[in-house]
Amino acid sequence: MNRNKSFDNKGPLLYLVATPIGNISEISKRALDVLNEMDIIAAEDTRNTKSLLNNYGIEKEYFSLREHNENEASEHLIKLLKAGKKIAYVSDAGYPGISDPGYLLVCNAIKEDIKVSTVCGSCAFINALVASGLPTNHFYFYGFLPPKDNETKNELGILKNHNETLIFYESPHRVLKTLKIMFEVLGARKAVLARELTKLNEEYIRGTLEELSEINPDTLKGEMVIIIEGQNEEIKIDDNELLDRVGYFIKKGLSTKDSIEVVSDETGINKNYIYKLAHK
Ligand code: SAM
Repeated sequence: MNRNKSFDNKGPLLYLVATPIGNISEISKRALDVLNEMDIIAAEDTRNTKSLLNNYGIEKEYFSLREHNENEASEHLIKLLKAGKKIAYVSDAGYPGISDPGYLLVCNAIKEDIKVSTVCGSCAFINALVASGLPTNHFYFYGFLPPKDNETKNELGILKNHNETLIFYESPHRVLKTLKIMFEVLGARKAVLARELTKLNEEYIRGTLEELSEINPDTLKGEMVIIIEGQNEEIKIDDNELLDRVGYFIKKGLSTKDSIEVVSDETGINKNYIYKLAHK
């Protein structure tokens, strides 16, 4: 066990500072004060951070820590912290360590008995979740799905029975393909696509996975978060909706029996129940 008081002025302290995810004004006074106090600002992309902090008149020594050099770079930073330098780490946007470098740096710092503290700011998935209209009490943040379609399908298959709201990051060039796979694996659940958060073109698209997967891709540019309701269909789908789903798959060319099986798989509702309903 190890107890650390962040602000007791004993021993080195590494700050992790969240930076804006779009609107550059979304950086707190405290974040600017802390960054101003530092000897060195370690950053995922030093040019990007320099240009952000130039807006606030902050000029510092920068050090690059990115995904590909995180281990070696963190060892170097730990030596500097132990030598008494004040250091903060920032990633390109939002919180370090959230689909960004930072995790290894934190682990290495803790191993060396260096205190770690955070300065709050924006995080894309938190913004998206709280405004999504989907349950916020329990959620599962996945981040980026793997690049290959079959791996994506496997991962979604594992997540399919989670009751928590599911959250994913995605890039604009893949989003439509991903939404189609999500619909195929998770069914017509409620979903929200939150795009360009805090920027001029911020948009929330609320619908079902089926509807989202049919959006014109030319209208899906920029950065985006996908939020999907968890598995709790038994309570939510009424008999008419079940029959609509069966009808949907019949129209798509499946036999009645296969359509009932697909709807049973996607809703978790017993297929004999759906069969009886369809033959009433
Ligand atoms: N560290 C960041 C955070 O705390 O949210 C996430 C960085 S990750 C490399 C970048 C991904 O976050 C984007 O591909 C997108 O999925 C999401 N993202 C970042 N900024 C966003 C924004 N303004 N609107 C919507 N999604 C955003």
